[in-house]
Amino acid sequence: MKYIINTIRILFFALFFYLMINGKAALWLALFLVSLVLALVFGRIYCGYVCLMNTLMIPTEWISKKLKLQTRNTPRILKSGYFPWISLAVSVALIIISKRVLQIDFPILPIWLVLSVLITLRYHPAVFHNLICPFGALQKLFGRFARFSETVDKDACINCKLCEKVCPSNAIMVYPVDKKAAINKSICLQCTNCRQICPTKAISYGKFTN
Ligand code: SF4
Ligand code: SF4
Repeated sequence: MKYIINTIRILFFALFFYLMINGKAALWLALFLVSLVLALVFGRIYCGYVCLMNTLMIPTEWISKKLKLQTRNTPRILKSGYFPWISLAVSVALIIISKRVLQIDFPILPIWLVLSVLITLRYHPAVFHNLICPFGALQKLFGRFARFSETVDKDACINCKLCEKVCPSNAIMVYPVDKKAAINKSICLQCTNCRQICPTKAISYGKFTN
């Protein structure tokens, strides 16, 4: 499964550069808008499979851990949770002003791509996914209503917490009261990392029940 998912990510990566080189960045934004509607049903599949930032953040996190650069701390300024909306507002303003005043297309996607890598060199990917990313803010809004998602069969969960360790967005947690894992589908990227590592096959994709 890992190889199939990585292949899908690489294909979307190639598609992005094809569209950029051919001056069709608007098509990528159209793809993003479609993904918001899909998130209402299938969850944040854009984030887990299509998003270039996520695709680059995966090897970046690996490098960061190898070089011992990563900290589990979260910058205090981000903790309020408003920053993704500020990022979104600033990004939209820059796109509009650049177009109207300078008659240029502001390279918003490449800029966020670089920022996502730089931030992930230092912080856990959840910091960027949940507390900075402007696209993630919208995906979170729609993903919270997802009908289908990765979901946990609590009867099969043995409280090993392996899933918590591999989740890039801190979307799965073992709760102290019942000692069972549960997924927050609004921040789940549907990446399947947790499903792949779960020793009891307690996690599966289907109608959300947590
Ligand atoms: S990896 Fe599976 S069994 Fe272990 S805590 Fe997570 S859901 Fe439960
Ligand atoms: S590891 Fe599991 S809970 Fe975390 S983002 Fe991926 S699919 Fe969602």
